[in-house]
Amino acid sequence: MDQFDAIIIGAGPAGMMAAIRAAERDRKILLLERNKSPGKKLLISGKGRCNLTNSGDVKGFLAEFSESRNFLRNAFARFFNADLISFFEDAGLKLKTERGGRVFPVSNHSSDVLDVLKSKLNNKNIRFLSGERVKKVLAPLEAKATNSLPAGRHGKCYSGEADASNGAGISNKVSGVLTYSGKSFSSGHIVIATGGLSYPQTGSTGDGYKLAEKLGHRIIPLKPALSAVCVKERFIRDWQGIALKNVRLTLFADPSDPDARTGGTGNKPIAERFGEMIFTHFGISGPIVLDLSAVVYDALALKNEVSMSINFKPALDYKTLDARLLREFKASPGKKMRNIFKNILPQGIIARFLEYCNVNADKGANQVTADERKRLIEGLFGLRLTVEEVMPVSQAIVTRGGVDTREINPKTMESKIVKGLFFAGEVIDIDARTGGYNMQAAFSTGWVCGDNI
Ligand SMILES: Cc1cc2nc3c(=O)[nH]c(=O)nc-3n(C[C@H](O)[C@H](O)[C@H](O)COP(=O)(O)OP(=O)(O)OC[C@H]3O[C@@H](n4cnc5c(N)ncnc54)[C@H](O)[C@@H]3O)c2cc1C
Repeated sequence: MDQFDAIIIGAGPAGMMAAIRAAERDRKILLLERNKSPGKKLLISGKGRCNLTNSGDVKGFLAEFSESRNFLRNAFARFFNADLISFFEDAGLKLKTERGGRVFPVSNHSSDVLDVLKSKLNNKNIRFLSGERVKKVLAPLEAKATNSLPAGRHGKCYSGEADASNGAGISNKVSGVLTYSGKSFSSGHIVIATGGLSYPQTGSTGDGYKLAEKLGHRIIPLKPALSAVCVKERFIRDWQGIALKNVRLTLFADPSDPDARTGGTGNKPIAERFGEMIFTHFGISGPIVLDLSAVVYDALALKNEVSMSINFKPALDYKTLDARLLREFKASPGKKMRNIFKNILPQGIIARFLEYCNVNADKGANQVTADERKRLIEGLFGLRLTVEEVMPVSQAIVTRGGVDTREINPKTMESKIVKGLFFAGEVIDIDARTGGYNMQAAFSTGWVCGDNI
């Protein structure tokens, strides 16, 4: 058995940063990665451009995270966006800030971000072993999964194998790891940085949840966050690939739903977003859809009828839009509706949109009745789509749920249950909206681990 100050499982942003920070402190690190090379998910992030952080302040940042956001306060206090930006810029990588505070490499190549990390892994204190998948974290007394925390939003455990007793696991201490290839490595510090369950082809297949659960950690149920939405209306298939800008998307749930989150009383909107979206062959995706998807998922889980409506003209009120249509109609009285609408909607959606509004596309503008104009305005303000499902976690950008933050010391990232066990990155129950927040959380929690192992 080789001896290391710490073993880090997983070479994503979190694991790499943990190794780099620990090596700076002269710790001898073994970094184990199941893939042939590190950072496979980082390479595809931000559509290959890697939105590595956001320029927002801590308050704004935390607001982008889901319920366990406060867990990240300490990590962000130690290593935040300015630190991350300096980390890369000091290594010669030029960065730029785009709309919404999103930070990217100037080159628009995520490989440049990864190259900086790889060059820093090339350190005498770090031994990087690829193609090694960790099977087991060794601990003298292996605990069974516990179910000792109060029920609440957290629901049941991940595998359903939870043992009612809190057991003797609390005094555990890690001693090493065992890999699927039969190798074992010893250390008193183990970092689980194995990522979530999304995009399993990148290596994140949820191993960390199983490793943590076997050591007594509770796993908050795993769900998709930032995922596309599948809708019932089949005409959407004709709109595949068409992107919309500056639209408002509003989410509605069943009027009979008693849950307070939906407003309780009825057809009230639960949530809405303004921005960009895109039609796909099964439904809708793009930034505002991804951002709403967790709420959609929860609404569907309550067995609600869930629908979403697209407002194509959110900047206008009814009167102004009506006046605009009348102007267009009067300017070209003989023009067919399918042509009139070229000034109003993207070409590819006009035919189906007019069908949705029950207005003949070949009708001349001067033949449109007041009722038809009303339907057109209502369609432009609220084209309703019935939600069937949120695409599964394997196709989500991030995983919601994970190792319960209440069982991790937020100042060190060390387990409160097993001594010497640490967590970093998406394996923890933290997730945020799009904008570079998830990556920063991985880097920050990784850095804190590296500073404490
Ligand atoms: C398509 C896509 C685009 C994204 N774009 C952005 C973006 O632009 N900005 C942003 O902030 N976030 C983005 N995200 C999310 C972000 O990439 C993740 O939140 C982040 O990579 C999490 O980092 P991590 O180190 O915790 O996990 P990961 O990056 O998933 O890394 C975990 C590593 O652990 C390895 N591993 C797993 N199990 C084992 C094992 N048993 N033994 C050894 N190794 C193991 C895996 O192979 C992997 O290399 C995107 C995600 C996706 C899927």
